[in-house]
Amino acid sequence: MTAKIIDGKAIAKEVRAEWKVRADALKARGITPGLAVIIVGEDAASKVYVGNKVKACAELGLYSEHIALPADTSQDTLLAKIAELNANHAIHGILVQLPLPKHIDSDKVLKAIAPHKDVDGFHPMNVGALVTGNPLLRPCTPYGAMKLLEKIGVAIEGKHAVIVGRSNIVGKPMALMLLQMNATVTICTSKTRNLAHHTRDADILVVATGKPRMITGDMIKPGAAVIDVGINRLPNGKLVGDVDFDSAKEVAGYLTPVPGGVGPMTITMLVANTVEAAERSAQ
Ligand code: NDP
Repeated sequence: MTAKIIDGKAIAKEVRAEWKVRADALKARGITPGLAVIIVGEDAASKVYVGNKVKACAELGLYSEHIALPADTSQDTLLAKIAELNANHAIHGILVQLPLPKHIDSDKVLKAIAPHKDVDGFHPMNVGALVTGNPLLRPCTPYGAMKLLEKIGVAIEGKHAVIVGRSNIVGKPMALMLLQMNATVTICTSKTRNLAHHTRDADILVVATGKPRMITGDMIKPGAAVIDVGINRLPNGKLVGDVDFDSAKEVAGYLTPVPGGVGPMTITMLVANTVEAAERSAQ
């Protein structure tokens, strides 16, 4: 079998067009969805991510504020900035780019964002809403992965979904979203015994470990839908996923490439969350 390669860029474009319609409807009512992105310090990769987020907002005609603070910004100054944005009616979404410098408590900062403006979906209130099956703002990467499955028409109900990785930003919320769609869910971690035994039984396999090419074709069930969340830069500069693309494509039914798979969906769902937050505030 040769897998159908999922074109994340094309699907992201389609999804953005759908959300642009919703953003335009709000604008017609005098409400322009607004996103504030805060970056602390000079991390080169973070700067690129923030630039892409601001660009995606512009593409949909959203208002965005890019707030760049120096690396030695105190935690209190950052918290004061968040409080100011929480109270700003032109801002519907607030995102603090991670990682933050070591002297700042990320957990405290993320909890300071008003839950209804938490477009990253990391606030305990949004996490709780997802756990109880009433999601409000969902973490962008797993939300984007779910959208990919929906757009390629993979049925989820009754399927065995295996997620490799249990981070709060990808693995756990992905498991909850699949559970909500009535999949039977298995979560694997670095402590899982005989990983291949589990992955080989997956109708839907989501991999988010940060370990380059760790899932090989022989670990995949023939015909499975494989979503590779990983983004790893090899010493030679090449960008690869957590799935070994060449061997996986011979076995899987669907496969996301890296780059060009889940990546473009993450920013798309951030913009979607911003529009959704603005819609809610307008109600
Ligand atoms: P974390 O490091 O937070 O979590 C990795 C998870 O993988 C952990 O739960 C760990 O298990 C598990 N793991 C590690 N090694 C193994 C192994 N050998 N077998 C089974 N499980 C293992 O990573 P993230 O979730 O933040 O990110 C994962 C990947 O996704 C990274 O490559 C990251 O760059 C990428 N990413 C991509 C995004 C996108 O937009 N496409 C967005 C976010 C992340 P344990 O808990 O036991 O340690």
